[in-house]
Amino acid sequence: METRELLEWSARYHTPNYGRTPICLVRGDGMRVWDSDGREYLDFAAGIAVVALGHCHPRVTGAIREAAATLLHVSNLYHTAPQIHLAKLLCEHSFADRVFFCNSGAEANEAAIKLVRRYAKERFASDRYEIIAMRNSFHGRTLATVTATGQEKYQHGFEPLVPGFKHVPYNDLRAVERAIDSRTAAVLVEPIQGEGGVNVPDEGYLPGLRKLCDETGVLLVLDEVQTGIGRTGALWAYEHAGIAPDVMTLAKALANGVPMGAMLAREAVARCLTPGSHASTFGGTPFVASVALAVLTTVIEEKIPERAARMGRLLVDGLQRLAARVPAVRAVRGRGLLIGVELDRPAGPVVDRCREAGLLVLTAGEQVLRLAPPLIAEAADCERALGILGTALASER
Ligand SMILES: *Cc1c(COP(=O)(O)O)cnc(C)c1O
Repeated sequence: METRELLEWSARYHTPNYGRTPICLVRGDGMRVWDSDGREYLDFAAGIAVVALGHCHPRVTGAIREAAATLLHVSNLYHTAPQIHLAKLLCEHSFADRVFFCNSGAEANEAAIKLVRRYAKERFASDRYEIIAMRNSFHGRTLATVTATGQEKYQHGFEPLVPGFKHVPYNDLRAVERAIDSRTAAVLVEPIQGEGGVNVPDEGYLPGLRKLCDETGVLLVLDEVQTGIGRTGALWAYEHAGIAPDVMTLAKALANGVPMGAMLAREAVARCLTPGSHASTFGGTPFVASVALAVLTTVIEEKIPERAARMGRLLVDGLQRLAARVPAVRAVRGRGLLIGVELDRPAGPVVDRCREAGLLVLTAGEQVLRLAPPLIAEAADCERALGILGTALASER
C-alpha cells in the first residue's frame, strides 16, 4: 500500500487529537527505525523515552515470545510468578516495600493520588486531601492527572477539573513551604520535568522538599514515569539527590514499549490499599510482567544507567560546543540521556529538518528540543546525531 493513501486514511479515520509527522514507521532494530518508503532514521526519541533498550532488543523479544506462548493473561484474582518476581526486583532495587501494577503513567499517577488521599484521611483528618503539584508539570491525561498537570493547554475544555490540587512554580522551595497547610496530603513532583521543557531543578530542591514533607507529615510523590529505569544516569533520578520518596510512579520504559505502569510505595503508606480498594484488569499480567522483568534485569546487569550517564555527557559536551556557534540556542540542559536544547524560537521546524536528514528527535514545550535516545546508544550514534543537529540548527538564522 502506498504511504500517501495510508496517511489519507489516517487523517480520515483517527480522532484528530495527534499532530502527527507525515511518515509511517514499519520496522525497528536497535537505534534505528524504517518508514514505509524504506527510509532509515536514527531514533533519538525512543517512542517518548520508552524504548530504553532500543527496538527489538533480543532479550525483550525473547521474553515476549516465551511469555506469549506460556500464559498471556489471567486476572489479579490469582497469583502469577512473573508479577511476583518483578515486584520483588523493583523493591530490592529501590526505596519501596510494595508495588501496584497498572498500564500507563496516568494510571500509575491516579493510583498514587488515590493512595495519598486515603493515607492522609486515615492517618490525619477527613479533610486532608490536597495535593501540591508544580506549574509546567506533566502527569497524564485522565481527569485527575490532567488536573495535576500544571499546564492549562492540556486542561482547556475539559472542565470541571478534579478538586483538591494546588500548583506552585517548579524549583521554588519557598512556594511549596507557603502552600503546605493542614489540608495538604502530598507533594507531587517530577525529579526533572520532561514534557515541561527538560527542567532540571537546583541541587537542593528535592532534599528541601523531602525535609518540608518530613516536618509536616506530607507525603512526597515522585513521578519518575519519564526519568525512571536508568534514563538520567541512575536507575531512579531521586538517587542523584540522595533522598527517597514515599511513593514513586513508573511507566514509559518499564517494559520497553509493552504498555505497563507501576506505583511503588513505602510499607506504612502502601498498607492503606486494603483488599478491594483499588484494582486494574490488565495490571501486571504474566505477559507484560515477564517483559518488564527482562528489561529491568538487562538494565541492571548491563549497567545501562552508567552508559546513559557517559553518553549523556558526550552529547551535552557536543551540544554545548554547538551552542557556542549557533545563536538560536539559549541553553543546553539535562541529565543522562534526557536532554533539552532550549531555542529562542519554536523547535518544531528543527525537528522537521532533523527528520528529513534521518534523525528523530522530540520537542518539550514550544521552544525546547528534547533528546531521549535508547540508553544503548553508542558514541558513534551520538556523533551522528550531533552532526545532523549541527546542520539543522545552523540553518536557523
Ligand atoms: C508520559 C508521562 C506521563 C503519562 O504517561 P502515559 O503512559 O502517557 O499515561 C506521566 N508523567 C510523566 C512524567 C510523563 O512523562
